[in-house]
Amino acid sequence: MYGNNSSRSRLYPQQQRSGGCLRIGIALAVAAFAIISFLGSKVYNPVTGQDQYISITQEQEIALGIQAAPEMEAQFGGLEPDEDYQTIVQYVGNNIIKNSEAAQSGYPFEFHVLADQQTVNAFALPGGQVYITRALVDKLETEGQVSGVLSHEIMHVLARHSAEQIAQSQLAEGLTGALVLATYDPNDPSSMRTAQVALLISQLVQMKFGRDDEIAADTFGVDLMSQAGYDPNQMVSVMKILEASSTGAPIEFFSTHPSPENRIGRIAAAITEKYPNGVPSGMIQ
Ligand SMILES: [Zn+2]
Repeated sequence: MYGNNSSRSRLYPQQQRSGGCLRIGIALAVAAFAIISFLGSKVYNPVTGQDQYISITQEQEIALGIQAAPEMEAQFGGLEPDEDYQTIVQYVGNNIIKNSEAAQSGYPFEFHVLADQQTVNAFALPGGQVYITRALVDKLETEGQVSGVLSHEIMHVLARHSAEQIAQSQLAEGLTGALVLATYDPNDPSSMRTAQVALLISQLVQMKFGRDDEIAADTFGVDLMSQAGYDPNQMVSVMKILEASSTGAPIEFFSTHPSPENRIGRIAAAITEKYPNGVPSGMIQ
């Protein structure tokens, strides 16, 4: 717009003048604040047994996930209207939570099927909102396979992978991200409605985890599904189904996750480590 342009051209000369030592001083202060808030957020994660750098609370994670949920759903055609899909996925998801270490996590897990019938994928928002597309559910053949996908996603939440990425982006962006999160009150959602928080939510919805996070979600996921009585070999079956589906239409799961071929070996090793004498009979297939 013309009005914006004219006011912007008046502002630029003033900004140019505030350069030099003052600007370097501000930059150093911002960088110092970012580094201090990054280093000050080392937290031990009892699920992974590792220290990690996190700058938001569990309550903030939960609130951010709930705020991001409508945007996630809108991207994949909303929630699947066929209640049978929601029922089975919620049943398996709640079964894993009730009968595993996830029960003590404090995250209010919710499981949803997205209506998208083309995109084969599953997602986890921070704080416990877990999604699987109808297209992926349609490819799965057993309850144990559903538990494999959900256990992988639950582990992204328990391992706080999104919160870790937020801490890293705060370090990169400095003061802005830190201030947004510092002023955000999880009990008052209206405190979030700033442009920066809207941006953070859209970043959450688009977030891709790194290779190490995916392997952690696979191997810890093996443990989680086993605790709930599911045969962990069903996680291997999921990877084989995805591998077999990879010809033809592009499968979204591959772009956010390492290829199943590389994952099967690591999953098998995690199963052997957990059950050196073989998987007990009678686990749910
Ligand atoms: Zn993943």
